[in-house]
Amino acid sequence: MIKAQGPLSIATFFTECLLHPKYGYYTTRDPFGAQGDFTTAPEISQMYGEMLGLFLAQTWHDQGNVAAFNLIELGPGRGTLMADILRATRTIAGFHSALQLHLIEASPTLQALQAKTLSAFNPTWHTQLDTVPQGPLFLVANEFFDALPIRQFIRDGQQWRERCVTVTEGDLTYALTEAAPHATLADRLADTKQGDLVETCAPAQAIAQEIGGRITQHGGVALIADYGNRRSLGDTLQSLRSHHRVPPLLHPGLADLTAHVDFEALAKASPSAHTRPTDQGVFLERLGITPRANQLVKSLQGSALTSHIAAHRRLTHPSEMGTLFKAMGLFPASAPPPPGLD
Ligand code: SAH
Repeated sequence: MIKAQGPLSIATFFTECLLHPKYGYYTTRDPFGAQGDFTTAPEISQMYGEMLGLFLAQTWHDQGNVAAFNLIELGPGRGTLMADILRATRTIAGFHSALQLHLIEASPTLQALQAKTLSAFNPTWHTQLDTVPQGPLFLVANEFFDALPIRQFIRDGQQWRERCVTVTEGDLTYALTEAAPHATLADRLADTKQGDLVETCAPAQAIAQEIGGRITQHGGVALIADYGNRRSLGDTLQSLRSHHRVPPLLHPGLADLTAHVDFEALAKASPSAHTRPTDQGVFLERLGITPRANQLVKSLQGSALTSHIAAHRRLTHPSEMGTLFKAMGLFPASAPPPPGLD
């Protein structure tokens, strides 16, 4: 592509690496767990999905036990999170009979894995949110937004040079476009200086706008959990292979590629009300992860008990995932704020 068309934007490179039909990272493999390249919160412990199940059930209850709603997950991976959410909400009277399950997944390989865990709940698969029918929406997105393609811009005076990917002597390398003004970055002239790098993610903003519009119109809630900061600054493009960081251009299609989520940009794009991004550790504690952990301890011993204790720490402790990961809620301005979030 570079030979034929010239340098690619980071966004095009990102999309080809992850979702190319033949060579894409997600289209060709199951990347999760100890054998894979990275582990996510729902794969660490069932408690994560259980807490998110209670979060959804409480919000559903606070909005008047909505009679019929779409339960949606963006990027369900192996389907573990949704399976735990559905198990944890089994005893909530009326919740299961009111829900229609919709899974948004671009990878056919992962759709097949999700079918194994979730087929009993008759899910409908989509590659985009647009085809999910309108109606109240209860949505979770765990480490989905970090997989969406970003663009990178470096400030040059009052203008910006876009970072792109080219080929130099057979290797992929970075290059910069000529400086040009960018209307969408006008507000970043206030909080950046010469040479600073900022990232934008138009697809993430479009999805947040769509979700927030539906929530405002029909009710419901969205929980966006990911790593990132209130506002993006600096190069956060990151590549993981076999649980180790590798240079992002080195293994196209063979390594995971992510970028930090700019929560402020998502909140701004959504027409609904929103909470603040809240540290994952605090959020899970407020929802009751420690009493739940103590209850599970009673049925565990030996190495299962040791790994259970380690998992609780990994999900909540500030030196592990507790502060690096954040959760933010989108909700209707007319409804009570969802539980556990600032
Ligand atoms: N939520 C899971 C998986 C996170 S990995 C967990 O926490 O374990 C990201 C997921 O999003 C994968 O399932 C991947 O295939 C999917 N995905 C990535 N980009 C996508 C896109 N543009 N559209 C739909 N799904 C996408």
